[in-house]
Amino acid sequence: MTQFPFSAIVAMDDMRLALILNAISPDIGGVLVRGEKGTAKSTAVRALTTVLPPVEVIAGCRFSCSPSAPDPQCPDGPHPAGAPAQPRPTLLVELPVGATEDRLTGSLDVGRALTEGVTSFEPGLLAAAHRGVLYVDEVNLLHDHLVDLLLDAAALGTSYVERDGVSVRHAARFLLVGTMNPEEGELRPQLLDRFGLTVEAAAPRDPPARAEVVRRRIAFDADPAAFAARFADAEAEVAASITAARARLAMVVVDDAALEQIAAVCLSFGVDGLRADIVIARAAAAHAAWRGAAVVTREDIRIASRLALPHRRRRNPFDAPGLDEQQLDEALGNDADGGPDDEPDPPPGSGPDDQVAQDPAHAQSNGAGRESVQPSGTTFRARRLEVPGQGHGTAGRRSRAYTDGGRTVGARPPRSVIRDVHLTATLTASAPHQVRRGRTGPGLVLERADLRERRREGRESNLVLFLVDASGSMAARRRMEAVKGAVLSLLLDAYQRRDKVGLICFRGADARLLLPPTSSVDAAASRLETMPTGGQTPLAAGLAEAHATLLRERLRDPLRRPLLVVVTDGRHTAGGEPDAAALRLRRDGIAAVVVDCETGPVRLGLAGVLAEALGAEYLSLADLSVGALAGSVRAYRQAARRDAAYRRELVA
Ligand SMILES: [Zn+2]
Repeated sequence: MTQFPFSAIVAMDDMRLALILNAISPDIGGVLVRGEKGTAKSTAVRALTTVLPPVEVIAGCRFSCSPSAPDPQCPDGPHPAGAPAQPRPTLLVELPVGATEDRLTGSLDVGRALTEGVTSFEPGLLAAAHRGVLYVDEVNLLHDHLVDLLLDAAALGTSYVERDGVSVRHAARFLLVGTMNPEEGELRPQLLDRFGLTVEAAAPRDPPARAEVVRRRIAFDADPAAFAARFADAEAEVAASITAARARLAMVVVDDAALEQIAAVCLSFGVDGLRADIVIARAAAAHAAWRGAAVVTREDIRIASRLALPHRRRRNPFDAPGLDEQQLDEALGNDADGGPDDEPDPPPGSGPDDQVAQDPAHAQSNGAGRESVQPSGTTFRARRLEVPGQGHGTAGRRSRAYTDGGRTVGARPPRSVIRDVHLTATLTASAPHQVRRGRTGPGLVLERADLRERRREGRESNLVLFLVDASGSMAARRRMEAVKGAVLSLLLDAYQRRDKVGLICFRGADARLLLPPTSSVDAAASRLETMPTGGQTPLAAGLAEAHATLLRERLRDPLRRPLLVVVTDGRHTAGGEPDAAALRLRRDGIAAVVVDCETGPVRLGLAGVLAEALGAEYLSLADLSVGALAGSVRAYRQAARRDAAYRRELVA
């Protein structure tokens, strides 16, 4: 298949540069490309292989051993000196978000090891990516467990697979490239820091460049080969420049003055540890080599910092991405020789102007009828709400489930290739057959039918869908403040438990899906904060909308069990009776919790009636809290930040 040529990519200068610098110096640690859908991020990443020089591999080795330095632990080895070699294009291997662990690391047949005494290993994507590019599209949606495996391999340059004492190790050094749409959820801090450079991808803003993007795409789709031929010279030139820069890299000097400038920049942006300093030094050296220079200059450091710092500076998870370029210039200081990129000092005292005045604390009227936006009240540590029964969803921290990790709760015959042997159960299964199988000496005679694997129980993550009453009655007596505070508390809880969340509100004539199910708890929090209150109470419409949303999600992700959290006083003043809608949800087996927010001296107890109809757990707002957490949105953000910092520490 003909690949879209790298040199035919319009704009996206930062992205192309970041990929090239990594191609010159893979030690930089990879590239993360952030950008909304439809910016052709993936096309640009895949195009990289068209300018990467080929690699020499030992013929027949499934682990891409280099003829000059074969992996001493290569499972296909040992390779004799002078083994036949062949050139091969540099490969780009894609790791699908839904891949299994075996697909990533390769699979070890423990069954054969136990019954035949043979170590049989089928290489995975980490082996395929060795000496090439490992690309993860939607890397922010990658399962935690795969992320850990990926990080371990990337950090060590090897992949280690062990099942019940049988193990294989092989080299896995690759250029890690990830793309993501931040609207679909942020990346965990560990993985974020693991990427050497980050770039923002956006469609070009000026009309001629946009038109050129489209023109080239159409030309490529019409005749890929002819289009590629048009760019063949340009491609060859980029490839030759990369090869030349690689050869020059070892000679590039990063002098003490440069290292001090790098340190000043990293200190100015308050990055943790020394990783950023090292990445900037490497990227600056690669940039100098790319320019054909022998010494790293201020401009090399400036460019490297712009690519290496945005995801490392001290920030809270809700800050906008990017880097303050003025701060960067100040930290770099002026060139001693007064180069052309000198900039005048910023006027003194310009700092406070940067702070945008915010007034979120008071209800703002948007002029549409009697609608108002209530601020969020106090948040607290929420109790864990869970889906009853036992699921099979992806690992998380909410409801009980059969999982790959967790504690052993039993044994069963393996469904496919055995991965997690329950030794006692296996031996027990083989015991009655030993005489018939003719066992004479020590050691049991094992057969495949004896094999038992562990059944483990842990916790899964869920989809928590909030259905919130936002009608006019909720605006009374600061009720909505308390409700928003409670839902924010539950959102923070969902963030920590790795759930997906969604938000529906009902008010006026109908119900609205304010946020389709997403992993972005930030997005949910901001939709909640700006959610207006006012109008009548169409509870039945809210339940129907929740039902439709959950059925859609069930098709998309059948193993993720939903939990519907209805925040209401149970009143309904518009649309039909809620009973029928509630019964339909119950008949579809949807687990629900009703959070009663009725207050005041006279109570109708309608939320309890709704809980009955839904077969739901019934809680009051006060029941949700298991501990105080001072403040409001600020506390929520601080807690999220602490969680992020804590997880960063775990990795360090
Ligand atoms: Zn090999």
